[in-house]
Amino acid sequence: MSDTRMRAPRRWPAVVAAGALTAAVVATGAGVAVAADEDRDRARSGQGRANNVILFIGDGMGAAHRNAARLAGVGLEGDLVMDSLDYAGLIKTDAADPNGFITDSAASATSYATGVKTYNGAIGVDVNNNPVQTLIERAESAGKATGLVTTGQVTDASTAAFGAHVENRSEQTEIARQYIEETGVDVLLGGGEDFWYPAGDPGTFPDAPAEDPAEGSRSNQGNLVQRATDEFGYQYVTSPYELTAANGEKLLGLFANQEMFQQRPEGQGDIYDPVVSLEEMTRKAIETLSQSRRGFVLIVEEEAVDEMAHSNNAQRTIDTVLELDKAVAVGKQFAEQDGRTLVITTADHETGGMAIEDTGSNDESGDGVSAEDGPFPVAGSAFSFNVDWTTTGHTNVDVPLTAMGPGADRLAGVHENTFVHQVMLESMFRARPGR
Ligand SMILES: [Zn+2]
Repeated sequence: MSDTRMRAPRRWPAVVAAGALTAAVVATGAGVAVAADEDRDRARSGQGRANNVILFIGDGMGAAHRNAARLAGVGLEGDLVMDSLDYAGLIKTDAADPNGFITDSAASATSYATGVKTYNGAIGVDVNNNPVQTLIERAESAGKATGLVTTGQVTDASTAAFGAHVENRSEQTEIARQYIEETGVDVLLGGGEDFWYPAGDPGTFPDAPAEDPAEGSRSNQGNLVQRATDEFGYQYVTSPYELTAANGEKLLGLFANQEMFQQRPEGQGDIYDPVVSLEEMTRKAIETLSQSRRGFVLIVEEEAVDEMAHSNNAQRTIDTVLELDKAVAVGKQFAEQDGRTLVITTADHETGGMAIEDTGSNDESGDGVSAEDGPFPVAGSAFSFNVDWTTTGHTNVDVPLTAMGPGADRLAGVHENTFVHQVMLESMFRARPGR
């Protein structure tokens, strides 16, 4: 974000936090940019120009993950917020990798970020390792504000592909450096503090904690937190209180050494209790970025869906889809008021080969970690269901996408992940063909 950008007065966050947006808008009046009815009608039909894009990624979140969360969370008659958006489609996730077509998070995120297919492990580069301009770089060049939010390491694949170019996703310190020094991402919230501090300087979160002794600072490029604050004007926060109080235009928040949770099989030290919730991080990101009159691009990822599904941990997988849904609700509420925001909820691939079954005792997929989990009560009914798993890895099944706002109608149907990039880009920067 440039220093010369015109800033609108801070407007909606306080009222959203109060959960009474309409009443507060009426009460406060001046300076509140509420979409005209016609803008909202156009957005509802998928038409018009998007000022903002918010992409929610449930890492590894296939149809069964959404379905299990719906059953456990709101029951047979209910809808997740993510399933209440106006348009739905299916996304093909194949990678362009010489060793296999089943994607990892890096290749798929690079397709969403850049519109090209690439190899597994690639971050913002094509199959020949050439950097490809990302959605966030394009937005920055147009004067928009940008943000990356995740419960994983903020430098891990799904967010990294939008703000950096490296040949291997493991180069997380270099990814951090590029975020602050080259791309200039305005809001960075998540885990992964270990990649920002050199060995011997633990930062805020102690090295080798009891819950995971392997964690510890490991930057090979010095203290990047200090560089972010001293040279690039970021406000740095590490606690819920500091996050709430933050008021800078550029915000760096790191809330864990690595992931903001511990991914393990059931009862083996699995923990999902982030210091700050994905919902809170999303709210703060929108509050900060929406001060930009030229709009913003925000990527929000729930990394734990994938990690818990890799552990074939159904309870935690369900919990984390529901956590993502709370964040989607924040984005949807903003978009409904704003009328010029494209909101998309999808995944990068499916993880676990997850299935929803009856509670019979016949386990078709065998025992061990992939044994059936459950029974889980269906909310508001006398029914229960089991979850079965067929792999601890990724699968190739298409992932659901739901969307609202300008451009969302184009996402109905079955599309490549690269097409999602095209729609996000064109919804903001190009007139729609034939309209
Ligand atoms: Zn993934």
